[in-house]
Amino acid sequence: MPQEGEKEDPAVTIFREYIRINTISQEADYDGAIKFLVRQAKELDLPVRCHEVHPGRVVVVITWEGKDPSLPSLMLNSHTDVVPVYHEHWKCDPFEAKKFENGDIYGRGTQDMKSVGIQYIETIRRLKKQGIQLLRTIHMTFVPDEEVTGKYGMGAFIKTSEFKDLNVGYVLDEGLANPTDAFTVFYGERPIWWVNVKCTGKPGHGSRFIEDTAAEKLQKVINSFLAFREEQKQKLQKNECLRLGDVTTVNLTKLEGGIAYNVVPTDFTASFDIRLAPTVDMTEFEEKIKTWCTEAGNDVSYEFVQKFMDNTTTSISKDDPWWNAFSTVCKSMDMKIETEIFPAATDSRYLRQLGYSAIGFSPMNHTPILLHDHNEFLNENIFLKGIDIYEKIIPALANVPAT
Ligand code: ZN
Repeated sequence: MPQEGEKEDPAVTIFREYIRINTISQEADYDGAIKFLVRQAKELDLPVRCHEVHPGRVVVVITWEGKDPSLPSLMLNSHTDVVPVYHEHWKCDPFEAKKFENGDIYGRGTQDMKSVGIQYIETIRRLKKQGIQLLRTIHMTFVPDEEVTGKYGMGAFIKTSEFKDLNVGYVLDEGLANPTDAFTVFYGERPIWWVNVKCTGKPGHGSRFIEDTAAEKLQKVINSFLAFREEQKQKLQKNECLRLGDVTTVNLTKLEGGIAYNVVPTDFTASFDIRLAPTVDMTEFEEKIKTWCTEAGNDVSYEFVQKFMDNTTTSISKDDPWWNAFSTVCKSMDMKIETEIFPAATDSRYLRQLGYSAIGFSPMNHTPILLHDHNEFLNENIFLKGIDIYEKIIPALANVPAT
């Protein structure tokens, strides 16, 4: 294994260079990232296009044309931004890409998801070197702002003619690390609902027993939401077959209200972050919220801040030619695959909503899940093994025959 200062695999060197570009969404050096990606395209001798989908927000597309460019293409998506860090909790600078003796590379984005972006590039580099050409065209898309809802990244990109021109047939996007020898593959994700519940009641002096207060209603609302939360938590804990993505999570995330210690306020607002299991009937669930509000008393209302209504999943049936190609090639490599619903949100939701098939897959087994966490790292050998894996998966998908 190469040590710091010794010769390392050039793919690892490029990966570490990408990590060193600070792309925390809110203050991202997107220009640095774009320059870096354009350089990669030049080195691959592939055409690259930069689409500004929102002021200052650019999607980079690197294209490798297939033998039949008229066929729907394979889109390899990754986001260029990363989440913020608490410097004091890191054992090294999160933007230094420090490599330890055992090959662990520490840095923000090592798992989520600069590793995958570089693995796509390195896979194409290897395949091109072999002098082959695949059947379908491949587009590597590098999008900004995924970590801040994707509204000005993928959310904006899908509305453009440049996106439609890609003629996408199948998408690979991000997944999660798996601490065991297995790999997790995601075929759907839980729709997000953010809801504010406003409780209004009678005001008065803080020394009295005022009737019909906002606080009593708030208490009932919170109890209803959290009782449901507990029910779902128990369901997950009691059934070993279930994963986080199979149940609905509800969390009370904000509380607002009150003006002084001695004044009973007229209003309290509770905010909940809800992630719905794909099996949930959304109309029924909204009825449930309505009932909880009604039961809490008069003048209790709710409003959605975010309400994603699509829970389309991507087929993982053998009859699906894309999934069949993906799963067959994984089997041929003796990879253990666990199929799951992604517990949080990714850019794939924008694509699935439009009817595109998207699979979330980051080839990282034997790796703790550290996305958004302190001391995020990826071992260089796992990173390199991931390129070997893509070297089989990507041609299998790009060679899926025309139907
Ligand atoms: Zn991500």
